[in-house]
Amino acid sequence: MATRQERREELKAVYQQARACTRCPELARTRTQVVFGAGNADADLMFVGEAPGAKEDELGIPFVGAAGKLLDQLLEEVGLARSDVFIANVLRCRPPGNRDPQPVEIDNCQEYLMRQVQLIQPRIICTLGNFSTKLLRADPTGITRLHGQAEIRVIGTRAVRLYPLFHPAAALYTRALLDTLRADFARLPELLALALPEQPQPLAPAVPDPEVVEQPERAEPEPEPEEPNAQQLGLF
Ligand code: URA
Repeated sequence: MATRQERREELKAVYQQARACTRCPELARTRTQVVFGAGNADADLMFVGEAPGAKEDELGIPFVGAAGKLLDQLLEEVGLARSDVFIANVLRCRPPGNRDPQPVEIDNCQEYLMRQVQLIQPRIICTLGNFSTKLLRADPTGITRLHGQAEIRVIGTRAVRLYPLFHPAAALYTRALLDTLRADFARLPELLALALPEQPQPLAPAVPDPEVVEQPERAEPEPEPEEPNAQQLGLF
């Protein structure tokens, strides 16, 4: 079992990997920077939005525009701050013109999200809007039907309470959605107080066949990373 410090170091390594990512050629070409995620690397509560917008792309931090201000306010109303939670997105790069994430981009970026969940070890994951809800439930049911209903789901290697919420950007323009989002948020303290769901058993390591000697794959050398931007990682 990795210690908190080891998980945090590993998260920084995943960040370095994501910073140099070129899996989505168009996004890699057009982004200002990779928006990895920010907040508490040991958070009980994690939020997963859609993709960085213009302001997030500029600053390298998720949810720093108008939707982010609303998210901050809703957190404050339930006695939480950004430094208590970790905020990530389905995509780590801004889609040009704020277009929707493409299925191939979601697929390419999914590994980073899974590693974040595995290393941060949240108890609750709030999906914000349709993209993250559909991705993490692996089901096309939309947010209008699912918001406010917590369910236990295994995300990668971690069992969490998945709690779909409307995206704050949608609530900015529709009063009724804002009221609903606020009411769903109000249940967070009660959900955080619940016991951690039973965790899946780790897979037993495969016993190597002594007859088969595997050749390690040759990987292209990664570019030498600079020091991680501590603010973006937000390791408070
Ligand atoms: N909307 C998102 O889904 N993510 C951000 O980071 C900002 C706005």
